[in-house]
Amino acid sequence: FGGITENPRQTRELQPGDYDFAQSPEYQSLQKSLALTEQVGLPNPYFTVHESVTNDRTTINGRRLVNFCSYNYLGMSGDPLVVAAAQHATARYGTSVSASRLVSGEKPLHGQLEMAIAEFLGAEAAITMVGGHSTNETTIGHLFGPGDLILHDALSHNSIVQGCKLSGARRRAFPHNDPTACRELLAQCRNEYRRVLIVIEGVYSMDGDIAPLPEFVEIKDEFKAYLMVDEAHSLGTIGSGGRGITAHFGIDARRVDILMGTMSKSLGSCGGYIAARREIVEYLKYTAPGFVYSVGLSPANTAAALASLKQIEQHPERVTRLQENSSLFLSLANEAELDTGASRGTPIIPVITGNSAAALRLSDRLFRAGINVQPILHPAVEEEAARLRFFITSDHTPEQIRTTVALTVKHARDLATGNSAA
Ligand code: PMP
Repeated sequence: FGGITENPRQTRELQPGDYDFAQSPEYQSLQKSLALTEQVGLPNPYFTVHESVTNDRTTINGRRLVNFCSYNYLGMSGDPLVVAAAQHATARYGTSVSASRLVSGEKPLHGQLEMAIAEFLGAEAAITMVGGHSTNETTIGHLFGPGDLILHDALSHNSIVQGCKLSGARRRAFPHNDPTACRELLAQCRNEYRRVLIVIEGVYSMDGDIAPLPEFVEIKDEFKAYLMVDEAHSLGTIGSGGRGITAHFGIDARRVDILMGTMSKSLGSCGGYIAARREIVEYLKYTAPGFVYSVGLSPANTAAALASLKQIEQHPERVTRLQENSSLFLSLANEAELDTGASRGTPIIPVITGNSAAALRLSDRLFRAGINVQPILHPAVEEEAARLRFFITSDHTPEQIRTTVALTVKHARDLATGNSAA
């Protein structure tokens, strides 16, 4: 026990917030953020209840609104064939697979979906898991560890950052979409680490810009690093037939070591996938904690994702319509000099308002005019980058898009000039 007196531990007086969560600084900080909407005099914009499928329209408080708040990019959630596939799978296999797949939760649909994903992307193999967020966390957290280096884009999704932290690897962020900065970091320190992982996203979810994949592939080859691309928002939205970022740049999918994606967006379902070389997929299937110690994807979710993938293959015109709608929205917004930031060629189009209160007010005016669009406030983005984020879908009509841009311009101007007319 001698060590205790030689090296006394620092002591501190217990504070009420240490054992009463309501008084903790964490909870107090949340209350401060939530107070913003009250100060602006508007209702809380979070946890709005949607009473119908959310596609180009939604229902809130019994009111039908034109909707730009959901990443149901291709209208697959609510599509009659996708719904029928989920219903059929539920009737046949039940509502849960009731076990980890490794032990006794495997259904024929799981293998069919994984094969379909791998074929669609041009990858060797694929594995699916119950959440997109947990797929990133467990894959990065499990494949990499102490002694490794992970370089990721500064605007990486939370699930990527959480995965890096879990891994115990050294983590460095490089400036957004800046392969040169990534290369410089590697040139300085590649030889200090066993393995290096570079993580980027196909399409960035706040700004709607695309990663310069070819440069990252070159860097990965040059420095013998692994490259992982999160295709949550690029699957089904960019590239020929919606095949994502590798198709967009005409790069063989097998040159990217780990293609990650979610089934919650273009595939109208839930869950995440990793498409990669056979060895990586096999290793994850037997050892990734978030897969091995978690239930298999539900029959309904598996069947819905599989039916959506078939729909995309059979009806590439849905992807074309999404791309046309996105480019119509962007060009009208730019003609009207709305600040759409870095968005190019994707269905994520921000309208940057400059501060959180302005974003809240503009969103409220549009809501009253029949348009539902989410304000993205500090701390999700920098305060001066607060915005409305428009998610475009293939179901939107050109008319809906024209009206929405016109109303956004009108209300943004009214707010800027202090005109109170709603
Ligand atoms: N990666 C990115 C880039 C995302 O935007 C998201 C969620 N929107 C996820 C991963 C997590 O996917 P999911 O919501 O399907 O869990």
